[in-house]
Amino acid sequence: MSERVIPLIDQRHLAPKSVPVLTTALPKLQVLGQVQDRLNRPLRDLRISVTDRCNFRCSYCMPKEVFDSNYTYLPQTALLSFEEITRLARLFVVQGVRKIRLTGGEPLLRKNIEVLIEQLAQLRTPDGVPLDLTLTTNGSLLKRKAQALKDAGLQRITVSLDGLDDAVFKRMNDVDFPVADVLEGLEAAQAVGLGPIKVNMVVKRGTNDDQILPMARHFLGSGMVLRFIEYMDVGATNGWRMDEVLPSAEVVQHLQTQLPLVPLEASAAGETAQRWGYANAQGQHDHALGEIGVISSVTQAFCGDCNRARLSTEGQLYLCLFASQGHDLRSLLRTGASDELIQASISGIWAQRDDRYSQLRSQLPPATSENPAATTAPRRVEMSYIGG
Ligand code: SAM
Ligand code: SF4
Ligand code: SF4
Repeated sequence: MSERVIPLIDQRHLAPKSVPVLTTALPKLQVLGQVQDRLNRPLRDLRISVTDRCNFRCSYCMPKEVFDSNYTYLPQTALLSFEEITRLARLFVVQGVRKIRLTGGEPLLRKNIEVLIEQLAQLRTPDGVPLDLTLTTNGSLLKRKAQALKDAGLQRITVSLDGLDDAVFKRMNDVDFPVADVLEGLEAAQAVGLGPIKVNMVVKRGTNDDQILPMARHFLGSGMVLRFIEYMDVGATNGWRMDEVLPSAEVVQHLQTQLPLVPLEASAAGETAQRWGYANAQGQHDHALGEIGVISSVTQAFCGDCNRARLSTEGQLYLCLFASQGHDLRSLLRTGASDELIQASISGIWAQRDDRYSQLRSQLPPATSENPAATTAPRRVEMSYIGG
């Protein structure tokens, strides 16, 4: 087996890109939220990382070797406060955002996260419609928190679970966390009505691919949508190698041998998952059995309609999961910038966006153990810092 290479690069303290200073008023159309980037993609989806800390050490995200007791997390003062997050979120909504996802690190570790959810749940689009408000969690604290999250106004939830077999799952989370506790969290979330629930499984070839069928069988007909995610080359610490990626096409093929599937239409523009429905004896989608999704970020780029922006724990705006630098919105907030200026800055930053990393990835030299992706590709921030 080839040796694992873990380059240590802390991207957080790279000088952020300066935020464009606008001296003239923006055209009305932009202020009304029709902002589009250079590839004509609107801004619709904002992912907000509320903490860079996590109680898991998934090897593909926060490997123990790097995120050990010597690792320095952001100090409390660096984090955006709930008021700062809510103010920014409101201004993003004016620019076209309709969906907000809280993430991390592990978002349920952020103290009083319910208070933030309560504030975000009050936001309305310019037409008076509530936002699609959701959260991605590893599920470890979900049993305890599901009711409070629901009461605060969270609509739905995505829970990550990489296998049903305890030994496999514990190897993936690397902190000995048992499957049963996540399943109890899922049950609690379903019981309080945090749905439709999505379950995310990152598939690593040779590590948890034997869990694909057991996971599919477990969630079949449960009302929860299981989604298989290709292991991605995010960040610079997970020692990513192409040979550990199991293409979604192979996942679907494997499932089809036991559980017939039919392709379904995308539910929304910019949807990351390709949907497949379980088929009945007539070969039609059986709604009672439900559906699965595959997210093929590596083998089938979906940059063409990517409408996602990411706000880091300390208020840096990232335009792509694979970006190496953010735009510093926190300093605008903390130097007393007006709503108009912040809004115009967001709009100006988005208008300049031309990121499409996944599409361009195929042109990069292939990653090998001698030539790992992290050193051949541009430097990138960690997923735990900007969120998934
Ligand atoms: N801690 C929460 C969790 O695990 O759900 C939220 C943050 S986590 C960074 C968000 C999502 O990113 C999770 O579903 C996780 O499985 C996924 N993820 C992290 N690293 C990944 C990688 N290298 N490839 C694919 N997905 C990854
Ligand atoms: Fe933590 Fe989520 Fe990353 Fe796993 S994927 S280490 S649970 S932030
Ligand atoms: Fe969007 Fe960047 Fe992912 Fe492409 S690589 S889909 S632009 S986040």
